[in-house]
Amino acid sequence: MWCKHEPTMETSTICVHGAENNTSNTGAVAVPIYQTAMYAHPGVGRSTGYDYSRTQNPTREYLEKTIANLEGGCGALAFPTGMAAETALLELFGAGDRIIASDDLYGGTVRLFDNMAANRGIKVDYVNTSSLRDIESAVSPGTKAIFIETPTNPMMKVTDIAGTSAIARKNNLLLIVDNTFLTPFFQKPIPLGADIVVHSGTKYLCGHNDTLAGFIVCADGKVEEKLRFIHNSTGACLSPFDSYLLIRGIKTLALRMKRHEENALAIAAWLRSHPKVKQVFYPGLADHPDIEISRKQASGFGGMISLETDCEATALKVLEKVRLILFAESLGGVETLVTYPLTQTHADLPKEKRERNGINERLLRLSVGIEDAGDIIADLEQALG
Ligand SMILES: *Cc1c(COP(=O)(O)O)cnc(C)c1O
Repeated sequence: MWCKHEPTMETSTICVHGAENNTSNTGAVAVPIYQTAMYAHPGVGRSTGYDYSRTQNPTREYLEKTIANLEGGCGALAFPTGMAAETALLELFGAGDRIIASDDLYGGTVRLFDNMAANRGIKVDYVNTSSLRDIESAVSPGTKAIFIETPTNPMMKVTDIAGTSAIARKNNLLLIVDNTFLTPFFQKPIPLGADIVVHSGTKYLCGHNDTLAGFIVCADGKVEEKLRFIHNSTGACLSPFDSYLLIRGIKTLALRMKRHEENALAIAAWLRSHPKVKQVFYPGLADHPDIEISRKQASGFGGMISLETDCEATALKVLEKVRLILFAESLGGVETLVTYPLTQTHADLPKEKRERNGINERLLRLSVGIEDAGDIIADLEQALG
């Protein structure tokens, strides 16, 4: 019933029904929380299929299968945070290896690459991945992988996934896509040619701003086997209760993503006409430079908007004056959040790089929630003053 690369059901149905539910023989509709560390063996040399919860736990397993089904992958692994998932990915590489990465990335990913990866002799080459030519010319003999985020955080630049996959295939590289912003509801990188999808499950997949989680999804069984070994050996696995919260959150992913996007389209259009807003970065705006690629590879534009205000004072005033909107560092939940990338998500980026990317004292990032769009706009209106 559940076949890997060809899901037999629509994404919204997979959100609700996840995977085959053989976690309970009671008929329980909700997947039980198996709060157990280990499993008793029925006899010598016999196992129920579960031995120890670091290796596997039925609640986590159901969640992992759900994510794999949503992304069209052959398997998935659940981690306690997105950064733990990315850290496990780094175990695939060693000294002398090079990774090509988008030059506009989540700040924590850059921190991991520039410190932990660098300490292990892994070199990351940052390029503008919106240009396939730039990606291609960055390939060198040591290159082992391409890591992209699309749309990027916070500048909302888009990378052509299928085009990047063709470069990866030709050069025998792994293509890794951080799909946190659009989620498999709007974008499925694996059918477009990605080898690995990584997620901060803390964001839209959880959806309620109350749990941290991370995922790796693999297109191929061999890569999955390697990563499962790393996952079990290093031990960063999601707890049964947090797995349950993620299963619960994902049930409404389709509804939430539609509403996030509907609100974001309205808010982006409104911001465009505000005299104190100089520029709006949203992939769904008709004049976004990458709108055609977005339309080709994704079924929606998501709920993230960045905006450049006219001056620092306006940006700071918005952060001080918002009432309904919360000034907090994260995204993807039901509540609308405003983030100041300069001092929050991207504070650890070298100044020069930050400025080159447009992350300045005037830039704000909005994670549009599922409240009434009119109420969010009214709050922005009073805050912009
Ligand atoms: C938040 C985020 C991460 C890191 O995930 P955590 O769950 O916070 O560890 C990675 N990539 C993107 C795009 C993110 O937004």
